[in-house]
Amino acid sequence: MICARCDQPIQPGERYVQVDNPGASAAGATLHIHADRCVPVPHQTYPANSFGR
Ligand SMILES: [Zn+2]
Repeated sequence: MICARCDQPIQPGERYVQVDNPGASAAGATLHIHADRCVPVPHQTYPANSFGR
């Protein structure tokens, strides 16, 4: 499963927390995040090097 906070895979055996997300559709009603502190990554809409022009 994928951590909803940092977008990294949660490995088997790694602690995680289930978070209900009432605003989501049925498929995404439950989110999983790392139990330990993880760093939220900003979602990159564009590749960084596309701004170099
Ligand atoms: Zn995480």
